[in-house]
Amino acid sequence: MRLTIHRGTREIGGSCVELASGATRIVLDLGMPLPGPKKTNITKESPLSPSDLIASGLLPNIRGLYAWDNPGVDAVFLSHAHRDHYGLAGFIHPRIPVYLSAGTRALMELNEIFMAEPPVLSEKRLLADRERLEVGDFAITPYLVDHSAPDAMALLVEAGGKRLFYSGDLRGHGRKRGSFERILHNPPRNIDCLLLEGTALGRSQGVEESRPDFPDEQSVEEELVSLLSAKTNLALMLCSSQNLDRLVSAYRAVLRTNSLMVIDLYTAFVLQALSPLSPRLPQYHWRGMRIKYWKNHAEKLAGSGHQDFLYAANKHKIKMPELIARRAEILMLTRSAGLFPLITRSLPDYNGLKIVWSMWRGYLTGEEPVSKFCRKNNLEINFVHTSGHAPLKDLKRLAEALQPHKTIPIHTGFPHLYRDFFPNVHCLEDGEELSI
Ligand SMILES: [Zn+2]
Repeated sequence: MRLTIHRGTREIGGSCVELASGATRIVLDLGMPLPGPKKTNITKESPLSPSDLIASGLLPNIRGLYAWDNPGVDAVFLSHAHRDHYGLAGFIHPRIPVYLSAGTRALMELNEIFMAEPPVLSEKRLLADRERLEVGDFAITPYLVDHSAPDAMALLVEAGGKRLFYSGDLRGHGRKRGSFERILHNPPRNIDCLLLEGTALGRSQGVEESRPDFPDEQSVEEELVSLLSAKTNLALMLCSSQNLDRLVSAYRAVLRTNSLMVIDLYTAFVLQALSPLSPRLPQYHWRGMRIKYWKNHAEKLAGSGHQDFLYAANKHKIKMPELIARRAEILMLTRSAGLFPLITRSLPDYNGLKIVWSMWRGYLTGEEPVSKFCRKNNLEINFVHTSGHAPLKDLKRLAEALQPHKTIPIHTGFPHLYRDFFPNVHCLEDGEELSI
C-alpha cells in the first residue's frame, strides 16, 4: 500500500489522503483548507482555471480525481460533514463514487440548500458502522466515532496484507462516547499505520489554558442548567446548528429548567433531516420548542421544494412580540454573523441578557458582532463549550489500544509534539509518498 497525505501533515483543515495498491487508488477526505493569511476560499464562482487551482495549492494534485480529468480514482471516502474534510468534493469527477455515512450525506445536502455549496454529482454510497466493503484491491471498514459532526467515521483500510487506520476527527467525551470506548475495548488488530488526528495537541498553550473548555458534553448541559436557572432576560446562545450533541444539551437543559427553546427554521430543518440517526434528537414540534422564522431561511426552503415543511412548522412559530414578552424564560439559539444584531436590536433592554458562546473560542476574534456588542454594552460572554476533538489523554488511550507499528500525524499544527507522547512516530511532508 502506498500512502500520500496531500494536505494535513502540518495543518488543521483541508485534509486529503491518497492510497494506492496495485491499480486501485482511493482518496480519504477532500477538505477545504481553513481560511488563513495565504489561503483563498474556493467558491463555485472561482475564476481560477483547473490548472491554476492545482498550481496555487488549493486543490491537491491528484491525477484522475477531478471533473476535467479522465477518471482514474476508484472511490472517495468522506469521514464526516465538516467542510475541512469534504469541502472540495464538488470538484470530484461525477463518475467516481463517493462513500459516506447517512448523516454526512444529509448534512452535505442541507449545505447545498442553505450555504449554496456546489453539489456533489457522484453516486453516493452509504457507509455503515463496521460494515466492510471492497473497492478493487482495498477493503474498507468504517468505525462510527464520537465527534462534533454527527455520524462521523474512522476508516480501517486493508490492502496487500497491510492495515491502515485513519482516525478522521474524533473524541471520547461527547454523547457518542460509547463508540470511542467500543474501539478501545475491541480495537482492530495488527495495525501497520495509524493516521492520528492531533487537533488538540499544542492548543493547551495560550488563551485556552487560562479558561479551559468544559471536559465533556454532560458538563456543558449542567452549566446551561445553572445559567437558565437564574435569568431575567433572554439567553442567546451562539452555536452550530449541525453540532447535534450541543442541540441535545440545550434542549435537555431547557426541559430541566422549564424554559422554552427557540430555534430558527434552518435548525429545525437540520433536526428533522437528521432524525433517523436518533429517536432522542429533539424535534421542533416537541414540548418546550418553538421556531423563529427568518425570511432568508423560509425563502431557501421554499426555493428548494420544501413548502410542506414550512407549512407544518408554521404551527410552532413564535413571533417577536411573544418572544420579547417571554424573554425571561427563553433560550434562543443562533449563529453569529447575520442574525445576532437583528435579535439584539429587537430587545427592549439588555439588563440580565445572557450571551452564551458555545463554539470554539478561536472564532471569537474580538472584532465580530458578538464581541463588539458585549464590549459596548458591558456584558460578559459565557463560554460553554467542549471540544469536538480528543485531548491528549484520549489520543494516547487510542494509540495504546491500536498498537500501530507507525503513528503518522495528521490534522495537527504540531506534528513534532507527537514524538513526546507516542511511540514509532513517522512525520510525513504534504505530498511525500510512503510505502507501507
Ligand atoms: Zn471535524
